[in-house]
Amino acid sequence: MSRFWSAVVHGLTPYVPGEQPKLDNLVKLNTNEHPCGPSPKVLEAIRAATGDGLRLYPDPNADALKAALARHHGVRPEQIFVGNGSDEVLAHAFMALLKHERALWFPDITYSFYPVYCGLYDIQPRIVPLAEDFSIRVEDYLPRGDERAGAIIFPNPNAPTGRLLALAEVERIVAANPEAVVLVDEAYVDFGGDSAIALVDRHPNLLVTRTFSKSRALAGLRVGYAVGDAALIEALERVKNSFNSYPLDRLAIAGAVASVEDEDYFRASCAQVIETRARLVADLQALGFEVLPSAANFIFARHPTRDGAELTAELRRRAIIVRHFKAARIDQFMRITVGTDAQCAILVAALREIL
Ligand code: PMP
Repeated sequence: MSRFWSAVVHGLTPYVPGEQPKLDNLVKLNTNEHPCGPSPKVLEAIRAATGDGLRLYPDPNADALKAALARHHGVRPEQIFVGNGSDEVLAHAFMALLKHERALWFPDITYSFYPVYCGLYDIQPRIVPLAEDFSIRVEDYLPRGDERAGAIIFPNPNAPTGRLLALAEVERIVAANPEAVVLVDEAYVDFGGDSAIALVDRHPNLLVTRTFSKSRALAGLRVGYAVGDAALIEALERVKNSFNSYPLDRLAIAGAVASVEDEDYFRASCAQVIETRARLVADLQALGFEVLPSAANFIFARHPTRDGAELTAELRRRAIIVRHFKAARIDQFMRITVGTDAQCAILVAALREIL
């Protein structure tokens, strides 16, 4: 490698995804997948799309998916951008919309891909600390004199805390920064939040990203999307068409459309996770854990006397995988995906034994 390229590549600090171990006999609660499978109609649609059609390129605009999502959210298809997982949608947004001469503001404890994309796309980050109770403090995102954001990004609910910012608070941030794109990453919103998609027609600077990986149980299919003003979406389309015209393959488009169309399955499977979450929170609290209020399909919990890394390692020895973040302020915590009732019972029994 030449010295130049070696310097560029070595300057990057890539995102390290959660471990994806082989599933045999493991209780895998580390990367927030949905414990139920996707709708059976999704599998049927994918099977039906597996055939001679695979010879042909997919629709570069994924119009069928945009139409289904537009109906689902009550917006126009021109307000929707689709991509290969919301990570890719986020990457396009960083390139097209979040790079500015002023800094990109985001919380100190949040999705760790944001600082990685800042490094990759040469965007100046401004890290805004969460409040003492790990919530996002709206006041910290309002302009003060000449001090204002070039752009803003945060997940709602936040990850890995699970804490939700009320929609009115989200709107205060968006309205107070009309010249900054505000990206609300709603990867987990279907598990208990109100979506900011309801606000996109009022605020041309608001972009909302969503994923099929969590509430639609399709992490393996890699489908994500963004909803916003048509001008923001056009900017994303330009970057996409300069990068990869066919981000979604035929199977992904077919499966995603079927998922959006099976509203009953979607609602029931999210309700199931929400119910299990309530039981898991109560069980962990009974064991002495402090659990942050979660609107997501995971919980963030710490024990007053036991270290998060140590508990994570103890669980691993019992074939239960949860996530620990070696980072300031959250070193005591474990992030635990809400699994099936049976998986959660195994986890709670193991913790009872360990404590
Ligand atoms: N945003 C947040 C906050 C996430 O936690 C994740 C999943 N790790 C993503 C986006 C990306 O999800 P995907 O690429 O699977 O759509």
